[in-house]
Amino acid sequence: MASIYLHIPFCEHKCIYCDFYSIENMSSMDRFLASLEKEIILRSRTLPGNETIESVFFGGGTPSLLSAKQFEKIFSLLQKNYRIEPDAEITCESNPGTVELNKLGEFRSAGFNRISFGIQSFHDDDLKFLTRIHSAGEAERAIESAYKAGFTNVSCDLIFALPGQTPERWKENLRRAVALKPKHISAYALIVEEQTPLAVMVKDRVVAPLTDEKDAELYEITIETMTANGYKQYEVSNFAQPGFLSRHNFNYWNHSNYIGFGPSAHSFCKDSSTSGKRWWNVRSIQSYCESLEKGEFPAAGSEVIDKNKFLTEEIFLGLRSTGIDLKKLYLLYGENVFSIKRAMLSEMEQEGICTRQNNIISLTSRGYAVCDEVAAKLIL
Ligand code: SF4
Repeated sequence: MASIYLHIPFCEHKCIYCDFYSIENMSSMDRFLASLEKEIILRSRTLPGNETIESVFFGGGTPSLLSAKQFEKIFSLLQKNYRIEPDAEITCESNPGTVELNKLGEFRSAGFNRISFGIQSFHDDDLKFLTRIHSAGEAERAIESAYKAGFTNVSCDLIFALPGQTPERWKENLRRAVALKPKHISAYALIVEEQTPLAVMVKDRVVAPLTDEKDAELYEITIETMTANGYKQYEVSNFAQPGFLSRHNFNYWNHSNYIGFGPSAHSFCKDSSTSGKRWWNVRSIQSYCESLEKGEFPAAGSEVIDKNKFLTEEIFLGLRSTGIDLKKLYLLYGENVFSIKRAMLSEMEQEGICTRQNNIISLTSRGYAVCDEVAAKLIL
């Protein structure tokens, strides 16, 4: 089963740390939506004819800036052109500063059954530093309103390792998040992305990133707190109550097909069980609209995923998430695929970095903290 991602490239204000493609000027919204509709139709033959869609995810940018009516139009076009499963997961990423009870009710009626809030912190001074447009109180009210509007599957995103963040302040964030009972929590370490205002602040020594040791300490606190509160870690940064892991994320990590619409969106389609193609759209609304207005695909580049690259990704994606399925790898690549790494795997098991159950090698909490190093060792 496949997924659809739609990138809505508008934000009320650009946060200092963000390198996702979005613009603050919304004057091209109508032109963008008309182009998005064209792309949805143009791509309708991308997936194998009988493949169904089990998740639709609106990300960005700030999708919650759109109205329910605008979403309804997009949904009806998706329904006409793709085989959407009746119980598909339909997620809207939302900024708490852009929604209130009525709008959330309309989103629910329009067809969304999952909502993911970018909360980031429950401390107003953190939010001010990150230049978020909402307060901690607004974030809490947005989640309460989502429940009142009928959403039962609510997710919230948090950021840790902010400059100067202490374990106590991070614990307080986790405590307040858990108290709101979201089914899913994503906790990402702050990354200083190049060409963001935050990168300039770091370069000018206005702020200092947290040390790796302190970052690791906060990550450990995250895993302990989430586990103690019934959330299962199913990826490096993602935690879910039983039955609420994000199907959309899971499909990405499982090498399922996905089509991304909108500027900067990425897509992936297999052409065999061990190879495929990845492509990505232009990172400019202007170029995106110009291409589609001429009836052309707005792709900026593509990459062939051959058998070796596919295997590397299987290992990397599997380790990051729910584990490497050895049975699947043996079937695809033969029983010798891990022969030269067997000793290394046993060593990692003994050190408590990974476990092996029913032919699935998965990282332990300790292992998730060193996921990249483990992947580098295992990649053939
Ligand atoms: S609201 Fe989200 S997408 Fe928009 S600038 Fe901030 S972090 Fe980036």
